[in-house]
Amino acid sequence: MTVNNYHHRRRILVTGGAGFLGSHLIDRLLADGNEVLCVDNLFTGTKDNVAHLRDNPNFEFLRHDITEPLQVEVDEIYNLACPASPIHYQYDPVKTIKTSVVGATNMLELAKRLGAKVFQASTSEVYGDPSVHPQVESYWGNVNPIGIRSCYDEGKRCAETLFFDYHRQTGIEIKVIRIFNTYGPRMHRADGRVVSNFIVQALRGEDISIYGDGSQSRSFCYVSDLIDGMVRLMNSRDGFHGPVNIGNPGEFTMLQLAENILDITGSKSQLVFEPLPQDDPRQRKPDITLAQAELGWEPKVALREGLEKTIAYFEKAL
Ligand code: NAD
Ligand code: UDP
Repeated sequence: MTVNNYHHRRRILVTGGAGFLGSHLIDRLLADGNEVLCVDNLFTGTKDNVAHLRDNPNFEFLRHDITEPLQVEVDEIYNLACPASPIHYQYDPVKTIKTSVVGATNMLELAKRLGAKVFQASTSEVYGDPSVHPQVESYWGNVNPIGIRSCYDEGKRCAETLFFDYHRQTGIEIKVIRIFNTYGPRMHRADGRVVSNFIVQALRGEDISIYGDGSQSRSFCYVSDLIDGMVRLMNSRDGFHGPVNIGNPGEFTMLQLAENILDITGSKSQLVFEPLPQDDPRQRKPDITLAQAELGWEPKVALREGLEKTIAYFEKAL
């Protein structure tokens, strides 16, 4: 039973709702006729991302850090709060791991009290530098437990453990998604992620910073596809918990990504080669067989089209 079963709209909590993905998710949940409570400590997110919702009576914002307990009344919880880009999550690594572990525990306790369904935004980083390619959900990963990415990777792995243990111990309904690199409008222009970095550099005519030789690969998912996968997972059949990969299987090297962005922008920026960060994964590509079978989901937006939309956003935002 939900706390508000007399209520005709679902009340949904989105942690990290003022961030890149959270704000797009909230737009979708509101468009679907829900009420949304956005909880965010504004570490990497900004009120600008949800400013267009200020006068929407079905939207509420609460400034709160999820490492502290939260008492609210909702029907569903999407837990997205966590810095996601390497420079942000490495800024205060102890805080990053606390956000994943203590924050997840607080959201799971809340879900237990309310009998609410709870969703965890996990990541392809749980596979580390993968030796299985493409990555299937049954692969346990290859993660350095003591490196500079570990605060994020191991924090997210531990959060997955907590979700499954809470489910087994208390019976709460959980949904765990593993998100592969996602891009689109509202990415933070200075968060250091490759798509935003290259676009900003190209538009400003600055050098394009390729780390290493640029032969490492990633698979880039456009934000609207990802949000569709998230909502499908939350609404999937009872008993399906994931973890499920959501990402675009199109695989590109960083050199190919740079070439695409230079081509679309017509920029004359030059490529410069900089040192590869420690533990940078060599390759990443989702196997989406499970998402196709369970959620009827697959991405619709090809890289070129998604880059064009993202570049159009940054042209206005810069
Ligand atoms: P983001 O940095 O834009 O958003 C994260 C949000 O969480 C921000 O608004 C931030 O202020 C908030 N936050 C951070 N710590 C918090 C805390 N302790 N309490 C409350 N709020 C807090 O990043 P994003 O790209 O939107 O990522 C959202 C989620 O998706 C994250 O959990 C991330 O790990 C996951 N994810 C994202 C990607 C991607 O490619 N974007 C890939 C894999 C996983
Ligand atoms: N990268 C790069 N130049 C940049 C930023 C990132 O070559 O300016 C590389 C980075 O080394 C990695 C890939 O792009 O191999 C993706 O980096 P990002 O931080 O976007 O995501 P993640 O490494 O978490 O997948």
